[in-house]
Amino acid sequence: MSGSIERSGNVARRRRVVVVGGGFGGLACASALGNAEVGVTLIDRRNHNLFQPLLYQVATAILSPADISEPLRRTLGRYRNIAIVLAEVSGVDVQHKAVVTSEGMRIEYDVLVLATGSVYNYFGHDEWQPDAPGLKTNREARCIRERLLLGFERAEITLDPVERKRNLTAVVVGGGPTGVEMAGAMAELGAFLIQRDFRNLARDDFRIILLEASSGILAGFDPELARYALERLQTIGVEVRTKTSVEAIEDGVVTAGGERIEAATIVWGAGVRASPVAQWLGIAPGASGRVPVEPDLSVAGLPDIYLIGDAAAARDENGKVLPALAQVAKQQGTYLGKALRAGLEGHATVKPFKFRNRGATAVIGRNAAIFQSSRFRLRGRVAWFLWALIHVYLLVNFEKRLLVSVQWLWTYLTRQRNARVIDDKF
Ligand SMILES: Cc1cc2nc3c(=O)[nH]c(=O)nc-3n(C[C@H](O)[C@H](O)[C@H](O)COP(=O)(O)OP(=O)(O)OC[C@H]3O[C@@H](n4cnc5c(N)ncnc54)[C@H](O)[C@@H]3O)c2cc1C
Repeated sequence: MSGSIERSGNVARRRRVVVVGGGFGGLACASALGNAEVGVTLIDRRNHNLFQPLLYQVATAILSPADISEPLRRTLGRYRNIAIVLAEVSGVDVQHKAVVTSEGMRIEYDVLVLATGSVYNYFGHDEWQPDAPGLKTNREARCIRERLLLGFERAEITLDPVERKRNLTAVVVGGGPTGVEMAGAMAELGAFLIQRDFRNLARDDFRIILLEASSGILAGFDPELARYALERLQTIGVEVRTKTSVEAIEDGVVTAGGERIEAATIVWGAGVRASPVAQWLGIAPGASGRVPVEPDLSVAGLPDIYLIGDAAAARDENGKVLPALAQVAKQQGTYLGKALRAGLEGHATVKPFKFRNRGATAVIGRNAAIFQSSRFRLRGRVAWFLWALIHVYLLVNFEKRLLVSVQWLWTYLTRQRNARVIDDKF
């Protein structure tokens, strides 16, 4: 490799593990290899680990991007055997065991871990993305936040009723946890801001329309819990339209179920597909572009390449593909890091990966969430409290846990949204 690792002397002489992606899976894997007798290079196209489950709170001005983003160098800097490379990977030269970046850099590996996650699936309509960003990056969350806040500002001063209606309409596509959380948080943002801070707007002027193509929201949840979530959304003013597919999105207009909806804010939350790892490896992908992996998370026929997180289609003991969730990615990363460490240090064979399901949760709004595990079904305030505890616990370090807890406590007590920033130019 050219660059950082060769300069760091002792690292280059050891076996080289290259980890692509510093998200939930990649960071856990690299951390588990910290100070091991192996040289690790972690490559990511951004310089931070991002806690995606709370991006919707950045989009609705509860949190700031830095509250949920942690520099990778900060987290991993204490391990002298880990080098970090800020670069976009564009392919893998499997034959010569090298990762290739978009700027033409080649980084050689003995063992490769791909943890590049997923991207939003626009089902063949990537041209909808600029109008309807998803919630995968801070940039997208800030873009949505600005469109929402700018909508209020423009509606406050316009005399044109059509323009006013457009500015006060938000459409969320997808009735999964992301869509539900986003719609709920937008409703609460609108209710508080409009009532308190605007003079020419009424609370009911702000419309949030949640579109779901199937017959119900929150498909993976117990039907009772999904029904509770639906009722809560409707109570706080969200119009939920099921069996309604999006036909087109263009110039701020969503066409769905034959109706044209003009909206200043459109959010896409309708399913993900894996990053293009299958293409890089020259193998056929499974459903949603995910690559099937062996029980030890290696790729069949490519024993030095491992895949974890959203990009991997790992199966549980019943043969069911594990969901694309942070807890799966994190557990796989820790497992693989420890397994590689044991293998490289010459220890005994490691057992296959086993996912421990800690339960699923989604929040609808203040004091309203759902939680389900193999043993419990919870809803309302208790589930909301549990949701908050789980998310604080999952944050990357103590500082973030403290920061986010304080912000949440403040928001809970005052209903204020402190991160209401509209940049000069947009
Ligand atoms: C809005 C939202 C809410 C969610 N809520 C929950 C939740 O409540 N609970 C839950 O369990 N899961 C949730 N998830 C899912 C969870 O975030 C993912 O399952 C998890 O992030 C997957 O981890 P990963 O390591 O596979 O990928 P990621 O965490 O996405 O990390 C991938 C990393 O790879 C990097 N990368 C990608 N491509 C390249 C490239 N070509 N070159 C270099 N670097 C690259 C990215 O920059 C990123 O840092 C949510 C996801 C979203 C989007």
